[in-house]
Amino acid sequence: MNRIVEEGDALPQPEGPFSDAEALELLMAYRKDPSNLDCPLCGPSTIEVLAFIEPDIDPSGFASVTDPEGDYAAALYCHTCHRAIGILAGAVRGE
Ligand SMILES: [Zn+2]
Repeated sequence: MNRIVEEGDALPQPEGPFSDAEALELLMAYRKDPSNLDCPLCGPSTIEVLAFIEPDIDPSGFASVTDPEGDYAAALYCHTCHRAIGILAGAVRGE
């Protein structure tokens, strides 16, 4: 029920993926300051956190919305180049 990307939804439809290098850049930026994310291509103030999702994304592309605690991923969307990405944003330091 909590799918974040579904046909017919009002949510923006991504037009393509970010590269691995861009994904890494976004991940580092997110860990530094989640409220200040720059798109590697478009620059500052274009990235929005659409939702927090389970880190394991279904092969069909559906993801369950979750709380930003423990293991989770953040679904990011750039309003300028219309690309979306899920980055693993949860704590990674052991227990
Ligand atoms: Zn962009």
